[in-house]
Amino acid sequence: MSGQSRREFLAGLSAFALAPTLALEHTAPELILYNANIITIDDRLPRAQAVALAGGLFFAVGPDERVLALASGRTKKINLDGRTVVPGFIDAHSHPAVAGRMHLRQVDCDLRSISAIQGAIRERAAKTPAAEWVLGFKYDDTKTSDGRPLTVQDLDTAAPHHPVLISHRGGHTAYANSAAFKRAGITSETADPPGGKFDRDPRTKALTGRIAERANEIFEKLIPETSSRQDYREGVKLISRMLSRAGITSVHDAYGSHDDLRAYQDSREAGDLSVRVYCLIGYLEIDRMLAAGIRTGFGDDWVRVGAMKMTADGSISERTARLSQPYIGRPNDFGIEVMTEEELYETARKAHAADWQIGVHANGDVAIDTVLRVYERLQRERPRRDPRFRLEHCTVINDSLVQRIKQLGAIPTPFAAYVYYHGEKMREYGAERLNHMFALRSFLDAGVRVAPGSDYPPGPFEPMMALQSAVTRTDMKGNVWGREQQITVGEALRVQTLNGAYASFEERVKGSIEVGKFADLVVLGRDPFKEDPSSLISIPIERTMLGGRWVFEA
Ligand SMILES: [Zn+2]
Repeated sequence: MSGQSRREFLAGLSAFALAPTLALEHTAPELILYNANIITIDDRLPRAQAVALAGGLFFAVGPDERVLALASGRTKKINLDGRTVVPGFIDAHSHPAVAGRMHLRQVDCDLRSISAIQGAIRERAAKTPAAEWVLGFKYDDTKTSDGRPLTVQDLDTAAPHHPVLISHRGGHTAYANSAAFKRAGITSETADPPGGKFDRDPRTKALTGRIAERANEIFEKLIPETSSRQDYREGVKLISRMLSRAGITSVHDAYGSHDDLRAYQDSREAGDLSVRVYCLIGYLEIDRMLAAGIRTGFGDDWVRVGAMKMTADGSISERTARLSQPYIGRPNDFGIEVMTEEELYETARKAHAADWQIGVHANGDVAIDTVLRVYERLQRERPRRDPRFRLEHCTVINDSLVQRIKQLGAIPTPFAAYVYYHGEKMREYGAERLNHMFALRSFLDAGVRVAPGSDYPPGPFEPMMALQSAVTRTDMKGNVWGREQQITVGEALRVQTLNGAYASFEERVKGSIEVGKFADLVVLGRDPFKEDPSSLISIPIERTMLGGRWVFEA
């Protein structure tokens, strides 16, 4: 009998599972957690009271008396007093390395008024040598009390002698001051670059300060990358701790570079990495990866090379996603296409031929259609058994798109907490379209293995916020957006754990509390099944365990 079928046999027989191969190596577990309410996300044994761990893996799962009977004199036992335990959360789309460096170096503009943002910029400028860049992040035009976006004048007032660039929380738009435009050689006469835009006052034609999509690249080239290898490592350490506190045990970096990959390895070697990383690689680096013979899956249980990542269109939070129907109140605005179908296909073909997984950012229905056409063509030309194509975000869908996603076995990674956190932006999509956005219900009903992601920094990464957002479809002010897409607590927990593991080809080793899998788990302060849905967000994360070791204890 294979290990797998013997496990199934044991589990089915007695609602108790013991790892047969592990039992040979370890005569007794190192640790037992008991008197707990364990939600396993394992259909064969959905609930348990106790779990035993050995060698960083789950050794046994079942009722207290059966699991405790395995203890030897050396086994440590922890009574969880009825607390709820779930598998470690898996964030299937985030930007941890870059976020960590931003937290180290930039002005955090997640503030509630323009004057507060100006104050933070002024403070940073005072400590920055004149002529050097002052950078900010997590600015959100809908989260300030002023009811208008930042302007070039606001930034000039705050820092007249420094070039300033403040990126929007969504990452696709930014706000520059006059010194920054001057540094870039851009005036009100300059034409928009392909795939990008410098916003202008409709009356005076003067630059407003806002720049979108590929226009950002002009500024990015001017800003010297001063992060040292040490800074990269420190950034990973910082974000790693933030994720552990939130109960996240695995994260998919949705656009990693070779430097990020090294930073994850450096951080791990230094003992600072407290989250497993599946690192998608930006398409600009694919040739170097192919030349080195590396493909998706390379690495180990801590740091692994993920899919190749490309971007088809704009963002949801900044309202630049490429849509078939215009934005509400802007009849001529259908969003922005970032890469053409031909560009996407040509790059994807190389990666597909080398057995890479591919992930393409596609928010709007037009962009999703384009990416699906590329994937369908790849499978026609070179069929692969299990390519697990990813559709990053995959926000605005319709029935025919969902059917094609199902046909391909593709994985959408919709925003986990946008309804709750970015609710005020939803008006521009309209109530009707919201029933087809972040469409967890539609995906699950069609049998699609959807794996939500935070997209941090654009979205918050707290899994309890994601849970409440998916279950209630209600924003922080109490507005309901797309009620038809509500899912249950059980479904939401599954997509936040096991489906994330599937999206990285790791469903056999993590994503549920099952014997033989990594001992990655979270102890919650309260049971989400017994919680009022409107207060799921307030359930405390008490402890986070990774590979059998506590990486966070409140
Ligand atoms: Zn992203």
